[in-house]
Amino acid sequence: MSTQGLLDTLRREGRTILTEVEAKEFLAPTGIPIVPTRLARSQREAVRIARELGWPVVLKVVSPDIVHKSDIGGVKVGLTSASAVARAYREIMQAVRTHAPQARLHGVSVQKMAPPGREVIIGAGKDPQFGHYVMFGLGGIFVEVLKDVAFRLVPLTPRDARQMIREIRGFPLLEGQRGQPPADLTALEQALLGLSAFLEAHPEVQEVDLNPVFAYPQGCVAVDVRVVVEGGALASSAPSGGTP
Ligand code: ADP
Ligand code: MG
Repeated sequence: MSTQGLLDTLRREGRTILTEVEAKEFLAPTGIPIVPTRLARSQREAVRIARELGWPVVLKVVSPDIVHKSDIGGVKVGLTSASAVARAYREIMQAVRTHAPQARLHGVSVQKMAPPGREVIIGAGKDPQFGHYVMFGLGGIFVEVLKDVAFRLVPLTPRDARQMIREIRGFPLLEGQRGQPPADLTALEQALLGLSAFLEAHPEVQEVDLNPVFAYPQGCVAVDVRVVVEGGALASSAPSGGTP
């Protein structure tokens, strides 16, 4: 779907939060590597897509009303067979019936399971006065408990991207310890710069959360993506009256 088509859908449905499937497609122009992800509307379709993507796969609930998917049992990782996918599909549907019966349900996403890597978070927000900013941190407790994150205003320079990654206290974990190879810092810098350029072209974006991004010795990949757009931007993006 085109970006305008997506914004039209959001406006029609009165929502500002993109689903993971929508958000991953929306952020494709950032150039940030994102794990291949497709929407399945039935158990059969989930199995077919899994076969096409290749094993192992991950299944996740896709609903504009469910933001924290694993909190309700909506994420199943490490699926290596058609029967495992079928079972995971039924378990996710059951979890939605139990924990979020009112949620609008698009189906499930089927995605390639990315190999484990060092988890980082790349995010963005919009300040009413200063505009967009980009955030970088290490995943999990580093962000949630230690608030070990770096911020820069958009547009980022290459120097900003370099510094952000190096100024967090957890940086030694990315550099590699005890014979562990360093994470691909260039790939992370490119991701930050790609997001910054994207935000310059998309004033309607209110919030971006790539959480987590797996960093590897070579390259990186985002496995979960959240995007929120401004309600006002939706209202004004395509006037419904006869105004030219
Ligand atoms: P939530 O909405 O709960 O944040 P996530 O999509 O982040 O759901 O999934 C929860 C966790 O599952 C992630 O933090 C990651 O560790 C793992 N995970 C999710 N998607 C993938 C994937 N495609 N490949 C590998 N691991 C994944
Ligand atoms: Mg997540």
